[in-house]
Order: sequence, then C-alpha cells, then structure tokens
Amino acid sequence: MKTIGLLGGMSWESTLDYYKAINESVKNALGGFHSAKIAMYSVDFEPIEKMQHAGDWDGTARILSEAAKSIQAAGADFLLICTNTMHKVAPEIEASIQIPLLHIADATAEVLVGEGIKTVGLLGTAFTMEQDFYKGRLANNYGLKVLVPNKEDREIVHKVIYQELCLGITEAASKAEYLRIIDVLAAQGAEAVILGCTEIGMLVNQADTTVSLLDTTAIHAQKAVEYATT
Ligand code: GLU
Repeated sequence: MKTIGLLGGMSWESTLDYYKAINESVKNALGGFHSAKIAMYSVDFEPIEKMQHAGDWDGTARILSEAAKSIQAAGADFLLICTNTMHKVAPEIEASIQIPLLHIADATAEVLVGEGIKTVGLLGTAFTMEQDFYKGRLANNYGLKVLVPNKEDREIVHKVIYQELCLGITEAASKAEYLRIIDVLAAQGAEAVILGCTEIGMLVNQADTTVSLLDTTAIHAQKAVEYATT
C-alpha cells in the first residue's frame, strides 16, 4: 500500500472528512485492521485565508510548497491538496516536489466523463467559480461545459463557505439557499452539480435533492485510495 500525502487544514473541518473517508475506504477494500498510510501536513488556515482575499497567491504558493516538501520528506508516495481553491497554485506546488499530485478537478472530471455528463454546474469559492484554473481545466481537458451561478448567488455561496462552513457552522437557511441555487443550475441545463469546495458536503448531500451531486471531497478521497491500493 502506498503512503498518501495530505496537504490539509484548508479548512481542518474538511480535512477531517478526508481522513475519515480515506480510512473507511481502505477498511472496506482490505478488511481486518487495515487503515490508510497517511503523511499529513495541516496548515494554519488564518494566514492563507488572508492572502487569498488579498490576492497574494504567490505567498500561498510558497507556504504550500514548503508543506508539500515536508510531506514528501515524511515518505508520502503521492500528494493530495485537500481544497479545490488552492489548486490555483497546484502548478507551483507540483514543481516543488518529485512525487505525483492527484488533481481534484481531474478526479472529478473522470467521474463526469464516465457518467457521460457534458454540462455541469459548479459551486465553490468565488475563486473557483470565477477564475480559470478549475473551470478551464474541466473545459479544455475534458470537453465539459461548466455553468456557475449568477453574481448574487456566487456571493451567497462564497460567504457561506468562509463565514460558516470553514468555521464548522451549518445553518438551515444556508442549506435552503444552496439547494435553491442547485435547482437553478439544473434548470439552466446542468446534468449534475459539482460541490467544488471541500466543505460543501457538510451542508448538502445527495439525499437532499434529485439533482445529481458530485462531492469533490468524497471523489478525491476515493481516488487516493484506488491509487494507494493498486
Ligand atoms: N476548502 C475550500 C475549497 O475546497 C475552501 C477553503 C479554501 O480556500 O481552501 O475550495
């Protein structure tokens, strides 16, 4: 079994979900007392969040590249960045290590392509919904048409992530808003909606809606286990 490298803490709430999902999946796959071999570096999210909102992506890349090097030195065979947003600096992180990076957008796109989905909705931080590092990869590398909410709804989705979910808060009113926005995307032609922020699974899940949802945390964790165990 390979050792899984986790670059977490963004936020730690969702890193908990990665840790649990990965171990449950290894247990299901291998049985007995098997559990995942993990080398994790969990950063302090406060300075990262400040840099994101100040547009200092080079600063975040420096911190995360150093963390990735520590994970490699600790014996990880490959790396997961446990957040969609910070894949904005995935190229810089990848360049600082020799072990492979399992990109969260690739893992998600492979599921979409496998299901024959061509048009997909995307929820995430404003950075993920508005910039090209994520949407562009889905469109250019996998031929997917990506729909995002309108400006007002993007602000709602973004605010709930940073003011509630990353702080471990789940509000019924926010859940209702997310479900409304998911319905709007489906009405606009989305055949499925990507929960493209690793905390959204804390708020909504497949049991809440008939619209097909792709939880990037679960998909990324599952991909890691497949890679580690084969
Ligand atoms: N975990 C979130 C994501 O998947 C947002 C927090 C962050 O900015 O990293 O995008």
